[in-house]
Amino acid sequence: MPNLNDHLGADLAQLRADGLYRQLRTLASAQGARIVIDGREFLNFSSNDYLGLANDPVLKRTARTATQRWGVGGGASRLVCGNLAPYEELERKLAAFKGKEAAIVFSSGYAANIGTITALVEEGDIVILDKLDHASIIDGARQSGATIRVYPHKNLKKLEDLLKQSGKSRRRIIITETIFSMDGDAAPLAEIVALKEKYSAWLMLDEAHATGIFGANRRGLAETTGVENKVDVTLGTLSKALGCVGGFVAGSQTLIDYLRNRARSLIYSTALPPSVCAAATAAVDFVMSEAGAGRRDKLWENVQAMEAKNPIIPIIIGDERVAVERSRQLYDKGIFVPAIRYPTVPKNKARLRVTVSAAHSAEDIQQLNECIGR
Ligand SMILES: *Cc1c(COP(=O)(O)O)cnc(C)c1O
Repeated sequence: MPNLNDHLGADLAQLRADGLYRQLRTLASAQGARIVIDGREFLNFSSNDYLGLANDPVLKRTARTATQRWGVGGGASRLVCGNLAPYEELERKLAAFKGKEAAIVFSSGYAANIGTITALVEEGDIVILDKLDHASIIDGARQSGATIRVYPHKNLKKLEDLLKQSGKSRRRIIITETIFSMDGDAAPLAEIVALKEKYSAWLMLDEAHATGIFGANRRGLAETTGVENKVDVTLGTLSKALGCVGGFVAGSQTLIDYLRNRARSLIYSTALPPSVCAAATAAVDFVMSEAGAGRRDKLWENVQAMEAKNPIIPIIIGDERVAVERSRQLYDKGIFVPAIRYPTVPKNKARLRVTVSAAHSAEDIQQLNECIGR
């Protein structure tokens, strides 16, 4: 048997040779349109902080006040003694925001997907996924023990075939992202809902990248599409447009009671700190307000200035090494755009993933456009 470090070292050398080696970059500034790395300022087009809330003064003040009152740590799982009052307030706020009976908060969007999917289905059931669904959905589906069926990205014909093939006697759940995290395109929700109804399957939506920025009330793409009351399970994150950290599920009171009893990533994990819950509550308040509508409009102005449809703008390069090189060239010009590579996206589909935020000025967008040669 090889020595552990020799074994791992060989794997890492291969990753380097394939242009797939990953490194952390350390920011010496808060998250925002401008960030500091290695003592240099960069224009940041890489974060999911679409509304510029991650370093918002009101949210920071709210978190500070909550820390003074409630301390820094949750102390235990929520089912033991970690369920401090800011949690309840956040869940009530999220339910109201999403227009659902109830909501439940997890320590991350990742934990929300894992806990929810493993609670809802098990061996003998069928999970039907879009090929480009997020890793946390795939991992949840795998852990559940259910049979996994995958349709090519947004391919409704294949989705219908899978629904036809899987017997009605078993539980079947379709799970899709609404705005896809690495491609920025939208799932055909109206059509998926029609199929879910026709074949009486359940539908779970991951609105991670749509929450806070899509829909008249910023509730997500299901709102834009007018299908909210046809969706069985709605998942969102507090970590993207809401600028904080955490994940949540909104739905019927029965669903939420069930998850509280069955979702292992909730039951066996320490509660989020109260400061985060308080800040997230303030973030939802902001998103629901007139000011939130205005900030969302600013985001879409920036998206239009990029001649894009959504805030996530992938520039597909293909080869991993070339993508890394392009990212480095932008870095040299003071623009931070990451190269996204396998396994986050398929092999030979490496890309620069540009994300724009309401925090960018028109000049920022113009500078990016010039640097990427648009
Ligand atoms: C980011 C993301 C998650 C995970 O959310 P975190 O809060 O970052 O853990 C889940 N689903 C999708 C589609 C995402 O983009």
